[in-house]
Amino acid sequence: MHELSLCESLLESIEDAAKREGFTQVRRIVLDIGPFAGVEISALRFGFDAVSQGTLTEGAVLEIHEGQGAAWCFECSQTVPIQDRLDVCPLCGSGQLQPSQGMEMRVKELEVL
Ligand SMILES: [Zn+2]
Repeated sequence: MHELSLCESLLESIEDAAKREGFTQVRRIVLDIGPFAGVEISALRFGFDAVSQGTLTEGAVLEIHEGQGAAWCFECSQTVPIQDRLDVCPLCGSGQLQPSQGMEMRVKELEVL
């Protein structure tokens, strides 16, 4: 499961931060996930519960914010907001779009003890 490996790398980066910054427990994690990141939120939550057992993130609240997507429209020659990869341009109705924002997943906030 792809979400499980995402959770493992998320946990690794949090453990690195813990070593660097000297915290020992995480209370809340806020994640920003773009609509095209290809992440299934329920699978991510499930995976997170599994990998956080016995780690400094055990029992932490996982807050997930779904970000805004954007794409470059070849017809309009500008960036337009979209929420789905298959959306057409909201300005001209063209399907010639290149997603430019919304593929990312990042930790936005970490509340630690
Ligand atoms: Zn357009």
